[in-house]
Amino acid sequence: MRRREFIQTLSISATALGCPQLIPSLTANSKLSSTKPGMKMHYEIKTLNLKYTWTIARNSSDVKKNVFVYLEKDGITGIGEAAPNIRYNETPESTIDLIQKAVPLIEKLNPWEFAQFSLDLKEIATGQTAGKCALDIALMDWIGKSLGVPLYMLWGLDPAKAPLTSFSIGIDKPEIVKQKVREAGPYKILKIKVGGPNDEDMINTVRSVEPHKPIRVDANEGWKDKETALRKIEWLAKNGVEFVEQPMPANMLEETHWIRERIDIPIIADEAVMTAADIPKLAEVYDGINIKLMKAGGLQEALRMIWLAKSLGLKIMVGCMIESSVAIAAAAQLCSLIDYADLDGNLLISNDPFSGVRFVDGRQYASARPGIGVKPV
Ligand code: MG
Repeated sequence: MRRREFIQTLSISATALGCPQLIPSLTANSKLSSTKPGMKMHYEIKTLNLKYTWTIARNSSDVKKNVFVYLEKDGITGIGEAAPNIRYNETPESTIDLIQKAVPLIEKLNPWEFAQFSLDLKEIATGQTAGKCALDIALMDWIGKSLGVPLYMLWGLDPAKAPLTSFSIGIDKPEIVKQKVREAGPYKILKIKVGGPNDEDMINTVRSVEPHKPIRVDANEGWKDKETALRKIEWLAKNGVEFVEQPMPANMLEETHWIRERIDIPIIADEAVMTAADIPKLAEVYDGINIKLMKAGGLQEALRMIWLAKSLGLKIMVGCMIESSVAIAAAAQLCSLIDYADLDGNLLISNDPFSGVRFVDGRQYASARPGIGVKPV
């Protein structure tokens, strides 16, 4: 068929399918025909105080400065959050730079073209995914609020299927670790940070308080040679650890593959995976991936990652940084697509400026309110 014939056939088929009627009915809907393009944006930095000094294999901190973004149009405001992470060359300042670079896109943005915006945003800078994430969450929150539905409903997901979330225990002195584990009574799974010289002591200390609670372990790239990593994982497996996250540096794929062939418990990629483009090469090396909105650059990329990873047979963990209820509520929208949840960021801080996630019986449930469902405290 020649091109002109093909186009004519298309046009006839569209008429037969009633498309001309469909298009006016969509544009007649005031919500979807939203007037002039362009959104208003403002942002602010908020300091989140950690309940305990937060120590992992890489670094230690008492406060976290996150950037909150607000996108407004037609009297509706979408809220987003960036948790910049120095591991990915992000600071609050670099995040604000990224947000400012996006201003020309935002000034002409038709919010209903949110998928196109997600792609355009990738083009304005490499990396700086926390800033991109804040904009994407704010835009999707606006979409949900405009339609009057929570995002999980827009995506056809079942909020009741939120899996148990783990609660993270950072590296610390034994007495503090014991206290944290005692205080973590309401959480049904613990994620223990390891990757240092005293890993066995960390686990033994946790087990002295909670002999039977399921535990997962995150080495945050802390083991630098494969023999050490293998020895540690074999010991952890014997001590009832369910899986190990990022045992070796992200770029040591061959070594990680070597380990995986010698152990029985799953290995989950975290620092090794940012966006969907990283996933195919990880499928033979890891059993699952830890998707974080901040690494992905937002909810829309996280969804693309989930579908790709599932198609490759990988387990899906959805994790977080130190974040308020804004980013946690956004991640909680993905509820029924998650095999392992690690959504404890808002539970690790003492001054959450927002509410909207319900922690019930070890699970983080998304609110039934529209969008991501959060409101200021
Ligand atoms: Mg991790």
